[in-house]
Amino acid sequence: MDFTLPEELRMLRDTVARFVKEELIPLEKDVIRREAERGLTDAPLIAPEVERELERKAREIGLYGIDAPEEYGGQNLGMLAKAVVVEELKYSITPFTLPPDSPNLWMLRETCKGDQIQKYLIPYANGEKKSSIAITEPGAGSDPAGMKTRAEYKNGKWVINGQKIFISGARKADFIIVMAVTDASKGSRGGITAFLVDKGSQGLSIPSVFNTVGEHAPYAVFFDNVEVTDDQVLGTVGNGFGPMQNRLGVRRMEIACRAMGYTRRCLDLMIPQANERRTFGAPLADRQSVQWAIADSWQEMEMVRWVTWRLAWKMDQGERNWRREAAMVKLQGSEMVARAVDRAMQLFGGMGMTKDMPLEYIFRACRLFRIYEGPSEIHRWFIARDLLRNGLPAH
Ligand SMILES: Cc1cc2nc3c(=O)[nH]c(=O)nc-3n(C[C@H](O)[C@H](O)[C@H](O)COP(=O)(O)OP(=O)(O)OC[C@H]3O[C@@H](n4cnc5c(N)ncnc54)[C@H](O)[C@@H]3O)c2cc1C
Repeated sequence: MDFTLPEELRMLRDTVARFVKEELIPLEKDVIRREAERGLTDAPLIAPEVERELERKAREIGLYGIDAPEEYGGQNLGMLAKAVVVEELKYSITPFTLPPDSPNLWMLRETCKGDQIQKYLIPYANGEKKSSIAITEPGAGSDPAGMKTRAEYKNGKWVINGQKIFISGARKADFIIVMAVTDASKGSRGGITAFLVDKGSQGLSIPSVFNTVGEHAPYAVFFDNVEVTDDQVLGTVGNGFGPMQNRLGVRRMEIACRAMGYTRRCLDLMIPQANERRTFGAPLADRQSVQWAIADSWQEMEMVRWVTWRLAWKMDQGERNWRREAAMVKLQGSEMVARAVDRAMQLFGGMGMTKDMPLEYIFRACRLFRIYEGPSEIHRWFIARDLLRNGLPAH
């Protein structure tokens, strides 16, 4: 057993940390201002020209395609590398992500075949195309098996009808992975199929945005007799649910990493403040309540780190049976960061409430972590069900 991060990943971590310090942290004031000013719109939090420049600079220093296969223009460094990169990036609140986004990449890698590799997978893997995934509906979120969007086979084509909500990045996506029922009698066990729906398809509309807490602005997406060909079936008909679950697992692992990045930022703000700020003749650092706030945030973050890195490592070993662990790290990470940022805000008093600091932004941004990719209750329920049915796993 070796707990040291390989030299290659330590170098990668340091490169991302420098990029964050030099490029992302200086943009934070602008991100906070843009978020405050955008009101009920989906205006981007990083100006598009600035984002393009960030992507160019990142690529220049070797930050691209971290977990994308080399044959598709990536570096194939794996999920542990991606975990390290995501945590470092989330030390800053500037919402910059290195393309490609891992969860959809994972799903496309598992399922793309024939011409789909050239048309969707390669441009996605090398960052030329963007995508989103449409699972949630007004009547089906935590329980996606209850989805109603249907795809029917008529005259040699699939015809999709239905409505999705809360679809992140839909307006910017070149294609959307759409989950639809193809056999209602089978449900999630053979009755749900994934389709690749191109931007601008006849009958596809993205009429409105949901302005949610924090930095996100997902969309409502409607399908009104949207026709797609057999070539746009992702994977095989009826078998969309399994690859979709694996994809969700990748995002759950990433959410734990985002939580660690934000928590490290909170700790880095708390420690000097505790040492320097004096009340009643003594530094805050002398008060036990402040010491515990720091100690608990650190310990909780470290415990999330090791289970998350173990999960990423397992993914790199080619293991596929990691649903329980993905649920666990997502649950623990999302609840851990909420406690940490709350403590940091308390420690900073009035300043902690202001938009002059990143804490207020983190406080709102991380609230979503406990909802999307499955609310906390669903993960607890899934973990319990798994243990109750199968007993304890070996260490
Ligand atoms: C900003 C944002 C971005 C999103 N991006 C996407 C996206 O890109 N693509 C996509 O498809 N979806 C996306 N979603 C949707 C998200 O995944 C769902 O909102 C989430 O899965 C919860 O589903 P729901 O909202 O229907 O809540 P519901 O399923 O109605 O659940 C509501 C609450 O009920 C409780 N609950 C539900 N079931 C149980 C249970 N069995 N036991 C105990 N308690 C329970 C939980 O507290 C839960 O929070 C996004 C959502 C948001 C807010």
